[in-house]
Amino acid sequence: MAIDPVKLDRLAQVAVKVGLNLQEGQDLLLTAPAEALPLVRRIAAHAYAAGAGVVTPILSDPQVTLARYAHARDESFDSAPDWLFEGMAKAFDANTARLAIAGDDPLMLSSADPAKVARANRAQSRAYKPALKKIAGFDINWNIVSYPNPDWARRVFPDLPEEEAVARLADAIFAASRVEGDDPVAAWATHNAQLHARCAWLDGQAFRSLHFTGPGTDLTVGLADGHRWQGGASVARNGITCNPNIPTEEVFTTPHALRVDGHVSATKPLSHQGTLIEDIRVTFAGGAITEAHASRGQDVLRQLIDTDDGARRLGEVALVPHSSPISASGLLFLNTLYDENAACHIALGQCYAKCFHGDPTPEQIQAQGGNSSLIHVDWMIGSDQVDIDGIKPDGERVAVFRKGEWAQAV
Ligand code: ZN
Ligand code: ZN
Repeated sequence: MAIDPVKLDRLAQVAVKVGLNLQEGQDLLLTAPAEALPLVRRIAAHAYAAGAGVVTPILSDPQVTLARYAHARDESFDSAPDWLFEGMAKAFDANTARLAIAGDDPLMLSSADPAKVARANRAQSRAYKPALKKIAGFDINWNIVSYPNPDWARRVFPDLPEEEAVARLADAIFAASRVEGDDPVAAWATHNAQLHARCAWLDGQAFRSLHFTGPGTDLTVGLADGHRWQGGASVARNGITCNPNIPTEEVFTTPHALRVDGHVSATKPLSHQGTLIEDIRVTFAGGAITEAHASRGQDVLRQLIDTDDGARRLGEVALVPHSSPISASGLLFLNTLYDENAACHIALGQCYAKCFHGDPTPEQIQAQGGNSSLIHVDWMIGSDQVDIDGIKPDGERVAVFRKGEWAQAV
């Protein structure tokens, strides 16, 4: 068993044609783990066939990263290659598209000194800021896809021989990325149209809040004033329609930071910075968490919500049907890109500016109930036993989800 070369080629095609929608003459900057080289090569071929200017790959390697934690002098952990990130920012200013291949071992740094990891992350974030601003601000078309790295596959299938684990993870990635059929570009057009129709329906309902009920859950999530639902392909500021995340199954919007009440139980473990937090149970009052429990990782959970005032309030609520391909796989991927697309979820922390009608200023976003924080951490609260009602400003209730599936056809 190995990675199916036909589906791998289709994944490259989807990354270029759907994820990036790369334009004739556009340069492409690509980052990837060295293990993902087979996918890097297929992406380069599809990019040049689509008329790319210059494709520049930058590879990373876990052994190189770990060598730093094992041998580097102490000062190393406060520095980062500023010149590289300045170059990236310049490239984005010149309309270069950005593609990231994910697939590193999710627990790669679990044996490294946490203080050094924190310092290195801080230095990296500071150096990366000018480039990240252009990605976060959606200045250019960008995309992230995944490659079934052996290190990652071993974490998802710890009991299988490596080759079989890689093949199983590859199949799960291909299914979730919708590249199993002959025409994955058409499959994505259909999927995007469905997500857009869901957003249009939800925007039309203009709910004041969503009421989640299920085992251990009775939670009312107020929605921000002027909130807008997002999902599927969207238009970057350079005018190019792209699908930043592949896979994506969610439609999502901004909760009201002061109007979340009740209790909620997580339906999947949360993998956070190398720790698995299990059986999360949380109580909200007036938008803030007042009680937080977990059967495992409770200290990490409490540290997380103590990061700042916004860390105990919600910045995102997202709806994903239980029948979505990622959920159907039944796997825990230990990768947010996958796990958050397996179930309805909420996120503690920072909200998305694009989840508002109009183009509000940060002050307006706050006044309308948008939360702000240094963190944004998604956790899963959906399952086939969860119902959701939408509540309108006059109190009328509309069935949104029943037993984990959309209650209305659109
Ligand atoms: Zn989400
Ligand atoms: Zn999120």
